[in-house]
This record gives sequence, structure tokens and C-alpha cells, in this order.
Amino acid sequence: MENKLNTKIVRIEKNNNAQEIISEAAKIINDGGLVVFPTETVYGIGADALNDDAVDKIFKAKGRPQDNPLIVHISSMDELNNLVSEIPEKAKKLSEAFWPGPLTLILKKSKIMSDKITAGLDTVAVRYPSNEIALQLIKISGKPIAAPSANTSGKPSPTEASHVIEDLMGKVDMIIDGGSTYIGLESTVIDMTSDIPMILRPGGITKEDVESILGECEYDPAIIKSNEKIIPKSPGQKYRHYSPKAEVILYKGSIENIAEKINQDYEEALHQGKHPGIMSTNQTEKYYNSKTTLCMGDRTKLLTISSNLFSCLRKFDEMGVDVIFAEAVEEQGLGKAIMNRVGKAASKTITV
Ligand code: AMP
Ligand code: MG
Repeated sequence: MENKLNTKIVRIEKNNNAQEIISEAAKIINDGGLVVFPTETVYGIGADALNDDAVDKIFKAKGRPQDNPLIVHISSMDELNNLVSEIPEKAKKLSEAFWPGPLTLILKKSKIMSDKITAGLDTVAVRYPSNEIALQLIKISGKPIAAPSANTSGKPSPTEASHVIEDLMGKVDMIIDGGSTYIGLESTVIDMTSDIPMILRPGGITKEDVESILGECEYDPAIIKSNEKIIPKSPGQKYRHYSPKAEVILYKGSIENIAEKINQDYEEALHQGKHPGIMSTNQTEKYYNSKTTLCMGDRTKLLTISSNLFSCLRKFDEMGVDVIFAEAVEEQGLGKAIMNRVGKAASKTITV
């Protein structure tokens, strides 16, 4: 049995002594330990990317399959040169446009990137985050930091420190609580090793954003037709993911049709002795009188929906809900990423 760690939880607020806390966290990273920190996407569980033993601890703490490679985080463009063997012109353009930010670039790896990080691939995923705590931690530690989402593998990614505490208490050395994350969904992952860049995971930087800089960009076919037997290029996308304990059923169609069908299925679930819950939006709340709902926000403000999504899924678990009826949103812009995550959490999709 592994010994439980004495996890230190620290909160950074505007007037707090952030430098002192981050210096302590940086020392943990340099000593081969694990630090959870906020980013603008979700919370990350970080270790020194150049220390295989430390990286190994990430996989153990999360219960992450060894064949799912990690994203390496940097705090300046200069740091990229050490990690990759080449930076194609298109990658340079995207990094200039969107770094620091919620964009991960897949590039040919350099010799210093171990197989532990890349799961044996000849490429490495790199991101330059914009969250100030994340940036300071990378800068002060002086190391590239490998940091996947700070959840138990398979569960929804953490967007608040309380989610991390639920999953990783006793499994990491420190948790830095920096409040709620901004976007609430993981970064966009783009493969830059082919001529036309390919989105392997949709996120905060949208296909339209990328096209505005490069002119062209494609989705990995596995993202679009997830029910077909196409193997995703991003190993992480092949796993069922983002799942609360409750079953999730996704409804697509017009708002009125969705609401009508959800109401029927809700009653049916009650008859079966289940505890259903509805993930609603401002526009549909009115259809679900006196039913158990959690509202994700305004459908026309996708950033509100993305920032609430994972936290709603976890809240339903806390409420003892065992089947969640989730409404689809439009698959445009950030909506593509939202639907990718809900789609992966869902056991089935009903189109009405
Ligand atoms: P996470 O850090 O938990 O947000 O997950 C990182 C995502 O990036 C997973 O879906 C990985 O499979 C993907 N990823 C990391 N490295 C690579 C790589 N070299 N090639 C393709 N996908 C990658
Ligand atoms: Mg993850």
C-alpha cells in the first residue's frame, strides 16, 4: 500500500502572499513532488516534466492509463526550443496568436522528453498557460511542468479546489486553491505535425479562431463521428471520460422538443424509482416546473455554460441523482467543445 501524503491546501487571493506560497510549491516540484494548481482551463496536477519518477506519481495519483500522454507546460516561448525538435511556421503563428492561452500544440519531441511523458510517441504536447499562478509556478521552479487535469481519471475535470480535494486528497503534496477556473474545459489540442493542422480535442480556442490565423484546419474525424470505429489520434479521446457517477443521457433537437422529451423521460425515471436530474439552461428552466434541475446558464453565453458544466455534473452526484438528462447546445465555436465533453460523459444520445 502507498503511504498517504499529508496534502497541504493553500488559498491564494489577490492580497495574499502569493510569492511565498508559489516558492514553496516550486520547491516541491524541484524535489520531485506533486502540486495541484489552477489554470485558465481546469486545475492541473503538476510535476517536473524532466523527472520520470515525479511524472510516474501523476499517473498513480490519477489512476491514468500509461498510454495517455501528458501536456507539458511552459512559461515563455524560449522554453519551447528545448522540448521540441522543430517548430513549423504554422505552429509559430498559432503560438504568437494564442499563447499564453488554452491551446496545446503537438510537435515533434526533442531528446530530453522521455517516453513517460509522451507515452512512447515521437511527439510531445506543449501549452503556455495564461493563469498567473501557473506561470509563476513554472517560472520559479525553472522546470517545464507536466500537468494533466487534477481529477481521478474518468471523472469530470476539476474547476474548483473542492473538486480536487474530493479526488486527490492524500495523493498530492500541495493543492493551490486559486478559485474557480475561467473556461472550465480543457485546452484545445492541435496536431501541428501534419501539413493541415488537426484539432484532436476541441476547447477554448475554436476551429474558427485557428482558421482566422492559418486559413485552414481540420477536426480529427474521430471527434466528429465518435460512435464509429475510428481510432482518435489523441490517446485520451478514446476513453469514456468526464463522467459523474450518474448515467448521463444527452438530448439533441429544438429546445421545445428536447424539453418535452426530457419531461416524459423524467416521469418515467421517477416511476422506475430512480432519482433523475435535469441539466437545464436559462431558456428552458420554465419547462421543468418543480423538477430537480441545475441550470448551466444562458445558451447564448457559451463561456458561462462551459465554466459551469463539470461543476454541475459533480453537483448532481452530491445530490444523489442517478440519471442526468442533459440538453445539447449548438455545436458552434465553444459549443463544439461543450458537446464533445457532454458526448463523452453520456451513455446515449437521443435526437428528437
Ligand atoms: P489532460 O492533460 O488530462 O487534459 O489530457 C491531455 C490530452 O492531450 C489527452 O487527450 C492526451 O491524449 C492528449 N495528448 C497529449 N500528448 C499527446 C500527443 N503527443 N499526441 C496526441 N495527443 C496527445
Ligand atoms: Mg484530463
